[in-house]
Amino acid sequence: MTTAYTTAELTKLDQQHFTHPWTVFDVFHQQGALPISRGDGCYIEDSNGRRYLDAVGGLWCTNIGLGRTEMADAIAQQCRELAFANPFVDMTNVPATLLAAKLAELAPGDLDHVIFTCGGSTAVDSSYRLIQYYQNCRGKPEKKHIISRKNSYHGSTYLSMSIGGKAGDHPPEFDFIRDTIHHISCPNYYRAPQGLNEAQYLQFLLDELEHTILRLGPDKVAAFYAEPVLGAGGVIVPPQGYHQGTFAICQKYDVLYVSDEVVTAFGRLGQWFASKDVFGFEPDIIIGAKGLTSGYQPLGACIYSDRIHQVISQPGHGRCFAHGFTYSGHPVACAAALKNIEIIQREQLLQRVQQLGPYFQQQMKTLEDLPIVGQVRGMQLMVCVENVRCKKTKQLFDEELDIGKRIADHAESLGLIVRPIVHLNVMSPPLTISRSQIDDIVATLRKAIELTINDLY
Ligand code: PLP
Repeated sequence: MTTAYTTAELTKLDQQHFTHPWTVFDVFHQQGALPISRGDGCYIEDSNGRRYLDAVGGLWCTNIGLGRTEMADAIAQQCRELAFANPFVDMTNVPATLLAAKLAELAPGDLDHVIFTCGGSTAVDSSYRLIQYYQNCRGKPEKKHIISRKNSYHGSTYLSMSIGGKAGDHPPEFDFIRDTIHHISCPNYYRAPQGLNEAQYLQFLLDELEHTILRLGPDKVAAFYAEPVLGAGGVIVPPQGYHQGTFAICQKYDVLYVSDEVVTAFGRLGQWFASKDVFGFEPDIIIGAKGLTSGYQPLGACIYSDRIHQVISQPGHGRCFAHGFTYSGHPVACAAALKNIEIIQREQLLQRVQQLGPYFQQQMKTLEDLPIVGQVRGMQLMVCVENVRCKKTKQLFDEELDIGKRIADHAESLGLIVRPIVHLNVMSPPLTISRSQIDDIVATLRKAIELTINDLY
């Protein structure tokens, strides 16, 4: 958007009026936020005209890259034709119908039904409302408990944040649902209890899930929520066999498996969906958002199985599934998603990720020779650098040192955006990233870490 305001004026207005997600008030009051005004491909530009290589892909979302005229045209065309239609009860619109059918085609197994929302958090909320309704319909009203993992992130509504297990996101000033939500271990082998090999660690994790279900009572546990690869928790790829193992336990105890693929779907791991295509299991529900529109429009989807649908849609009980939003299946957002999927298919971006992902991981791994890089981990186009004070003991820096932010600030001054999460730096570039841009990311991040080391020692 063009504006007559100067950058300084914009920053001031922003500080006065925009409460950002995850505002750190003292820093924000001093520094304000960086105003981004343009974007093309893997680059963004601030309001002073400075360009940055955006290795975060917006926020794990700009999968096809920014500035696509084709996307702008599809969105404008849909706005002209039909900017809104009431989705309630017995009215629909063409893009929503076609998108639901497309998602049913792409999703694994019998996941043929879609509840549309405005983003990932509301899709997680919708999934739990669906689960409650389903369990009540089938005469299991006691099944109310949810199991999820420490360090997981599932969104920022009251419910989705309570399902999430990141300690830093649960400060005492906020309230959370505690009685029906239970967090088990994060499957992070790097921080596993000492002395366990990977196979023993896997068994420990599976036993923990099973014991938690048995402790609560299988008749009381409704669902297990898991990201295939934990994103905001630090790009944690569970040990081999974890997904099949947890899925089998859920099936054994009649617990629904919700695969939160807000980050991992739509190509980030080189497939449409990570659960079936990467990890080989078919969950009952998949949550999608972000890469569904590549961030061009806000949209989330709760994609659920025909088995659930058969139960909730049984005729003759006078049941009405009283759930949804004004903007469920918004025609402009759905038109954007359809065009986005078309582009991913036409440009063979999944195959591109399969080719370039291993190179990205391999090059990033070279940073492990730096004295504060404890581990570089990830899969395809998701990567995390874990910074430590001592590589041998894996001891972390004091939180107040904000090591991830220091590195990210240096990277930013060198023209690279990486995301700091306390002691971590995470990256998830657009699927269109090139080999030379990957080389740029690695070289610039190395420099940023070296500058940070110079500051510290
Ligand atoms: N689930 C996961 C795994 C996420 O990473 C996120 C956001 O980062 C969400 C849910 C919430 O999505 P949204 O921010 O669109 O509400």
